Amino acid sequence: MTSGSRKSEVGDILRSLPLIDGHNHVGGPDLIDHKAQSAAEIVRGLDVAGVNKAVIFPFNNPDPTEGFKSANNYIAEAVADFPSRLIGFGRVDPTDPAGAVREVERIGADLNLAGLKLHPRAQKFMPDHPGLPAVLKKVSELDLIVVFDSGSAYAPWPEMSELANKFPDIPMIMAHMRQGDYISAAKSAPNIYLGTAKVPPELILKAVKEIGALRIISGSDSPYVSIETEVIKIRSLNGLYGSDKSNILGLNMARILRDRNSAQTRVS
Ligand SMILES: [Zn+2]
Repeated sequence: MTSGSRKSEVGDILRSLPLIDGHNHVGGPDLIDHKAQSAAEIVRGLDVAGVNKAVIFPFNNPDPTEGFKSANNYIAEAVADFPSRLIGFGRVDPTDPAGAVREVERIGADLNLAGLKLHPRAQKFMPDHPGLPAVLKKVSELDLIVVFDSGSAYAPWPEMSELANKFPDIPMIMAHMRQGDYISAAKSAPNIYLGTAKVPPELILKAVKEIGALRIISGSDSPYVSIETEVIKIRSLNGLYGSDKSNILGLNMARILRDRNSAQTRVS
C-alpha cells in the first residue's frame, strides 16, 4: 500500500465518525445581548469547522410564554430546512408549569424535536422548583433529552444530581461544567453528562480522568464561540486518546440520540 492510499483510508475512517456540536443557539435576537443566528449561518459554521450536525435551541426570550413558542417554531423550521444538519431542541419556562407541560408536549409530539433546553438562571428557578417534576415527567414520557444551563447559583450541583436521580431515564447534559463541582454530580447520577461549552481544557481533562470520556459532550455555544474554535479545543487536548476525542466530539451525542424515539434524531 502506498502512503497516499493509506492516508485516504484514514481519511475515510475519520469522515465516517459523526461530529456533532451539542450546544448552539438559533433564532434570536437574545433578550440581553441581542445576538442572533440564522439556520443558514449555523450550517455555514458547521461547514467551516467540518462538523456534521448541530444541536440547536432558542436564545433567551423577553416573553418566555409566547416568545418561546414562536422561537420553538423557528427551531422546527430550521430543522425542516436542514434535516441532515440540524437537531432541534425546544425551550420552555417551568415557572409556568401548566404552560411548560403543554409546550413540551408540542415540542415532542407536534414539532418532533429531540429535546429541551432549560435555563435556571434565565428563567429564575432552582432545581427543586415545584413546577419542574411535571415538566420532566412529560419529558420522560416523550423520550426527550434535556440540556440544563449550569455554572450559576441557580444550578447547584448537589441539587442537580438529586433531580437527575429522580428522573434516571432522562439524559441530562450540564451545558457548562465550570463553576460548580459537576464532576461530583455526574459521579452520583449516571444520567448526567457534562458539556464542554466555554470550559477550559484542564477541566475537561480532569472530567475525562474522573468519569471517563463517554459522558462528555462537546458544544461550542455558538454564536458566542465558533463551532470551529470548539473543535480545535477538543482536538488539541493533550494526552487524550483519539477515541476519547471522537466520543466527545460526536459519538456520545449520537448514542444518546440513537436511543431516543424521535425519527428526526436518527444519525446517519
Ligand atoms: Zn448557550
